[in-house]
Parts: sequence; structure tokens; C-alpha cells
Amino acid sequence: VVGTILVGNRVGEVDHFDRSDLELFEPLARNLGTVLESGTLEQSLQQLRDLEAQLRHQAYHDPLTGLPNRARFIERVELALDFSAADPEHLGVLFFDLDDFKVVNDSRGHSVGDRLLIEVARRISSAVGPEDTVARLSGDEFAVLLDCPDARGARGVAEAVLAAIRRPIQIDDEEHGLRATAGVAMGDSGARADELIRNADVAMFTAKQAGKNRCEVFSPDMHVAVIERHELMADLQRAVDRDEFVLHYQPIVSLATQRVLGFEVLVRWHHPRRGVVNPGDFIPLAEETDLILPIGRLVLAKACQQARDWQQRYPEHADLAITVNLSSRQLQQPSFVGETLQLFAESGVSPESLILEITESVLMEDTGTSVAKLMQVKSLGLRLAMDDFGTGYSSLSFLAELPIDILKLAKPFTDGLGRTERETAFAEAIVGLGKTVGMKVIAEGIERREQAELLRGFGCDMGQGFYFSPPRDATYVEHLLRRGDGAEDRKIIPFPA
Ligand code: C2E
Ligand code: MG
Ligand code: MG
Repeated sequence: VVGTILVGNRVGEVDHFDRSDLELFEPLARNLGTVLESGTLEQSLQQLRDLEAQLRHQAYHDPLTGLPNRARFIERVELALDFSAADPEHLGVLFFDLDDFKVVNDSRGHSVGDRLLIEVARRISSAVGPEDTVARLSGDEFAVLLDCPDARGARGVAEAVLAAIRRPIQIDDEEHGLRATAGVAMGDSGARADELIRNADVAMFTAKQAGKNRCEVFSPDMHVAVIERHELMADLQRAVDRDEFVLHYQPIVSLATQRVLGFEVLVRWHHPRRGVVNPGDFIPLAEETDLILPIGRLVLAKACQQARDWQQRYPEHADLAITVNLSSRQLQQPSFVGETLQLFAESGVSPESLILEITESVLMEDTGTSVAKLMQVKSLGLRLAMDDFGTGYSSLSFLAELPIDILKLAKPFTDGLGRTERETAFAEAIVGLGKTVGMKVIAEGIERREQAELLRGFGCDMGQGFYFSPPRDATYVEHLLRRGDGAEDRKIIPFPA
């Protein structure tokens, strides 16, 4: 006997089997018997088993890097926690997220992005021990399960991984520099796998907030901050829908005459519960979530309308310049040039009075396209300023190639003025550099008279800072414009003479 057939549950008018049914079953059973004996079934079973193994692998691995995926990683952590129930504090989960990978992927194309991810997977794997599990959790998120003595040891491994990722990656003829941020969470009695992974994620988030390219070890108070951030994100989306943004203006003053030459537009968020939120507390978040695109458009549109309004109502002040900060995400949009041109056309503002501020990093990321776009908007007549100059990494030769009209000396250099001889000389050198390449220089963050005077001595054209005036609302600007007191026209006298 090679097998038995069991039949049942006959469907139809007759609910039992009779002799004629039996006559049908007999040949069927004989045929099946032959098939079984010739081993066909065995073969099919083997195929089925292979298929199942393949499916299992697919379900548990990331096809791009071949690493275990999130589902598998959770299983592995669960298993490890069960095994080390007595001393779970030896288990560490490291969570890695690449910094600004979206930018690389968007600008360099997905096939380069994929190859970078494969290389990152390889580097993480070789930076950790052979016993440790490396997984790709999603897009640019990786995780490692470690067996190690304590949080310090785990942090050490995470730092080594970050260093490995930072080494330049060569793809075809191009070198890429990637950075990542890490979070570490150690096992805890009673903690489950998903909790442990989430804690490492929260620590990573906190490290991103603190400025990326670094590592943080989880502590329970981090949760509160993350929840708050979550709320803020939802609020920010609503703020865009309802336009809760207000522009403030900070005077830019001629250091020689103390006359106001223009205003920097600085956005404020009027939050219904929190009150006024400063850009430092929401622009980075907006940049991560791409909400910076609608916000940036709003700011630019409002600034153009406001400038146009002042130009019409106060024609004697038509020379006033308005400078607007531009985020790198805005510039990366293929529609950037078209949209900007349309905004100018719609508002009717004269482009000569507009200055766009960009930071060095904007241009470091994707020089060719960015420069081409900037040239296009420049051809309309508006000017470009490099914001916070000296805090980025641009080389001098790079600076000479850019279509920049104005350098804004970053506040840390202004702060250094008069502090030591060396710092003073440094600020002077940067001002000199700007002038040498034919740019105007605006010193940022002037808080004291002495700084203003030193800068003027160095030939710095313009200044901005609390010493002259903090950013104020439009009413203040109008007050200044209406004053019209002859020779003192638009002058800011900051200190008791
Ligand atoms: P930023 O463009 O470098 O703007 C100068 C910042 O320094 C402003 O902060 C200003 O209030 C502050 N500041 C000016 N003078 C002084 C001073 O004498 N002492 C000190 N301690 N601070 C001074 P704010 O308004 O908080 O803006 C911070 C940053 O947020 C800006 O830096 C800019 O990068 C960004 N930002 C502001 N508005 C926008 C916007 O509409 N779009 C984009 N993309 N970024 C914006
Ligand atoms: Mg600025
Ligand atoms: Mg600045």
C-alpha cells in the first residue's frame, strides 16, 4: 500500500456514495499509485520545499543588499533577548540613518543611490563582529544587533561604523562622501524587541536634532522630546495650510553712513498655542519633511508683495533692498527657476531690489545644476548673497567661480572681533577676501559699537545685528520709511552719541 484516498462531503442531490462512484475511484487510485511509485511526487515535493525556502529568504531579506530585513531583525532581537534573559544589558541595538541621503538620491539618480547603499551595507558589516547581525530596516536605515559589555562599548562600535561610512566612496569616476547618524539602545529586563529598536531609533532622532553625523545613547527623557517633535510636525503642516507665517525684517545698515540699505526677511511662525516660534525651531524640521517648499514659496511671495507695496507707497525709498533666505531644498526643485520667475512677474517687484541668500552647503551639494539655476534667476537682475560665510567648507577657488555678489560674514567671526589679535585678523582677512574678488560684504550679528567700528575700518560695507536693530515687524519698517527727516533719512542711530 503506497497511500490511502479519503473522500467525503459529496455535493449535490444525493448525499451518499454508491457503487458507481467506487468504480470511478478505482482507476483514479491506480493512476495515483503509479505516479507515487515513479517518484514524481517526491520531485514535486522537493520543488515545493525549495520554493518555500526561497520565499522565506525573500520574506526575511532585503533584495538590494542581501541583508536581513526588519522582520528578520525583530525576530533575531527577540531571540537574543530570550537567550540572555538573565543579563539583557549586554545586548545592544545600533540604529543608523544616512544623513541627507534623499538629496543624493534625487540629485545623482537611483542607480547611484542603490550602489551607495550596497557599499554602506558592506562597510557596516565589516566594521562589526562576525557574530553581530546587520540588517537594512528600510530605505537608508540600517541596524546592528551586538553582544557587548556596556553602552560605552556599543557606542564605540557605532562610532567605528560612522567612521567607515564617512570614508569616500568611489562610483565610476565620481567620489561620494556620505555621513550617517547613529542611536544606541541597550537591553533592559522586560524590554521587548520592538521597544529596544524604537529606543535606538529615538536616540538616533535625538542625534539628528543635535546636528547629525554623530551618535547618541538612549535615555528615557528622549521620548518626550520625540513626541513633542511629532506634534510640531503635524502643527507645521497645519500652519502651511492656514498660513500662520509672518515676516520680520532686520535692517542692513551702511557702516559708513548708518543709513539703512535694506532688510533681511526672517520668517516667524505664529503658533496658536506656543506663540511666536523662531525659524531655528522649525526650519530644520521643515527641511526634513519638504514642508520648506510651500513655506519658502509663501515667504518669497509675501516678501515680493511687501517690497512692491513699499516701492509704490514710498517711491523715495525705491532703492531699498530686500534679502530672502533660500533653502537648498528649494533650489533643488526642477521647478525652482520657473516658479521664482512667475512670482516676480506676478508681484511686479523690481528684481534689482531683491537678494537671495544661500549658504555654502547649498552649492557644495550639486554645483553644476545649482549654479546654472542661480545664473538663470540672476539674469533677471536680482543679486545673490552667501549667508553665514566662513562656517561651511567652500574653498577659495570655488568661491571665485560662483555667481555671488555679496558675502555675509558669519556671526562667529564678528564675535571674535577685538577678542584676540588673531581672531580680529581673521575677520579682517575674510572681509579683505570678499573685497578682492569684487563682492560687497555684510557683517552679521554685530552687537557692540566696537565691532561696528573695527569692521568699518577693515572696509566692510554693511552690517546687521542687534546693535542696530533686532528683526522687527512690517510696522516698524513703515515707521522708519515714513520718518522722512531730511538728512537723517532712514538712518539708525544705535547708541547714545
Ligand atoms: P540667518 O539668515 O543667518 O539670519 C540671521 C539670524 O541671526 C536671525 O535669526 C537673526 O535674528 C539673528 N541675529 C541677527 N543679529 C543678531 C545679533 O546681533 N545677535 C544674535 N545673537 N543674533 C542675531 P532668526 O531670525 O532666528 O533666523 C535664524 C535662521 O533661520 C536664519 O539665519 C536663516 O538661516 C533661517 N531662516 C530665517 N527665515 C528663513 C526663511 O524664510 N527661509 C529659510 N529657508 N530660512 C530662514
Ligand atoms: Mg540669512
Ligand atoms: Mg546669516
